[in-house]
Amino acid sequence: MPIPRPRILPRSRERKLALLIGAVALPALALAVTAFWLTLRVSHQVEVESGRYNAYLAEKVIEAYERELVDEVRGALGPAEMVSRAGGTGDDVRAALASRMRLFEAPHFVPLEALEGYSLVTVEGQLLIYGEDPTGQRDHPFAAMLLYGLDGNAIGAGGWWFNPRSFVAEHLRVIVVDRLPQSPRMYGGLESTRNLAVTVLDPRGNEVAHVREGTFPRTARLAVMTGPFEGYQVRVAATPTSPVAFANRLVVIEMVFIGLLTLVLLGATFVGARYILRQIELVNAKTSFVSNVTHELKTPISVIKVAVETLELGRFSTVAERDKFLRAISRETDRLTQLVDNILDYSRLEAGQHMLARSPLDLRDVVSASMDSFRLRLEDGGFHYEVSLPAALPPVLGDARALQHCLLNLLDNAVKYSRDQKDIRVVVASGDDYVSLAVSDRGIGVPEEEQDRIFDKFARVETGLVHDVKGAGLGLSLVQMLVHAHHGRVEVTSKPGEGSTFTILLPVWDGSRGSMQG
Ligand code: ADP
Repeated sequence: MPIPRPRILPRSRERKLALLIGAVALPALALAVTAFWLTLRVSHQVEVESGRYNAYLAEKVIEAYERELVDEVRGALGPAEMVSRAGGTGDDVRAALASRMRLFEAPHFVPLEALEGYSLVTVEGQLLIYGEDPTGQRDHPFAAMLLYGLDGNAIGAGGWWFNPRSFVAEHLRVIVVDRLPQSPRMYGGLESTRNLAVTVLDPRGNEVAHVREGTFPRTARLAVMTGPFEGYQVRVAATPTSPVAFANRLVVIEMVFIGLLTLVLLGATFVGARYILRQIELVNAKTSFVSNVTHELKTPISVIKVAVETLELGRFSTVAERDKFLRAISRETDRLTQLVDNILDYSRLEAGQHMLARSPLDLRDVVSASMDSFRLRLEDGGFHYEVSLPAALPPVLGDARALQHCLLNLLDNAVKYSRDQKDIRVVVASGDDYVSLAVSDRGIGVPEEEQDRIFDKFARVETGLVHDVKGAGLGLSLVQMLVHAHHGRVEVTSKPGEGSTFTILLPVWDGSRGSMQG
């Protein structure tokens, strides 16, 4: 009765993998995404705050420019004020203004009655009069303050045409470095302005002057000037040495850190999952191994038992009939021996105790000896077989018993996995530096995707035609281990439904004991 063989996982593997991913990887990913999001929010908030402060500071710079202009005009107006208060005429005032035009382009006096058309702005309680030239002769604005006559009444506005471009360029440094930090009304004072880059742009957006190089662009804010500086703009941004830039760099490092942590966590989950699945696979494979081996032992034992009983009771009529039972006993004993040898060799190899007794040998002798002991099974199984040996063969350094064991395993598989086409070929050949031993059958074949796996311990092809064939899944892994111990390799070429060829390649012995080519 065929024994139901436990699956080596596929479906439960998927379920367990999904469970593990669900239990560990998904929460890890969710935590990482949350950490990313929170960190980005903090960074964004810090940038917004910095931007807000920079906008505030740009306004303060503009106010400082107006104050600076008023101070300059007021300071330069001294002689003209004296002349007007002494009752001087417009021309006297103009002459007095001309004596102080170092800072400005040209003096100008507007009598009270002609003041219409000019604009007024109050800067810290002082009236600043400004405007364009109504005649259109000058392309720069006029900045002035009221002058009073002998009777204390305003007689007009005295001031200068001035170039706003040169004014903003000349005064920027003093405003940013001295005036703003010292201003008692400046929020943050000296410390907070130290890490700010301030730039003035002309109405076309071209830079006029700047204090401090390099900006952290995401925090830059722009404010447009009005009044006598109409159209000019002040841009304030944090410098790369500012706390906000530092915080931003920390955020980047933190993101990389979180990323790496997530990778490590996912990697550990993956490795852990693989390890657990491998263990489950091994446990399943061992269960399957025990049931397969038990079955493999039972069949020959019952055949031997029936044959011995028959012989004991003399239930045979001819010598040929008796020989048939004897052959069956011999054949099944060989099978049992091979199975037990496989298990013993395998556990010795696994424990690292298998000692190969290697000596130079002719592979043809190994083949002949193996064929002698296997012939019975081939003949009883109705197989047609062919052995092709070359006339001459270089020696290999090998353990004859181990190599014979390998060949018997390949032959055993060729028999087990053949169906109607009972043809087996054993071919020995030699190349430049190796000797090959190939066993071909025309059996069920091995699907391409399984061809590597079948050399694993306990591995058996679980699908397709192989289902009703018993085996422990040790034969090929044993062959591979033994061949590797000989510094050789095993290759397989196979097509499902057409057959398989398993080839053992061993290095040629180069004559010096113990050392080999290949
Ligand atoms: P076992 O034969 O005891 O199952 P092996 O390690 O010898 O174990 O083989 C592993 C698997 O490789 C087999 O279960 C079978 O599926 C496949 N296999 C091995 N040899 C052949 C062959 N000649 N033809 C088809 N399949 C094979």
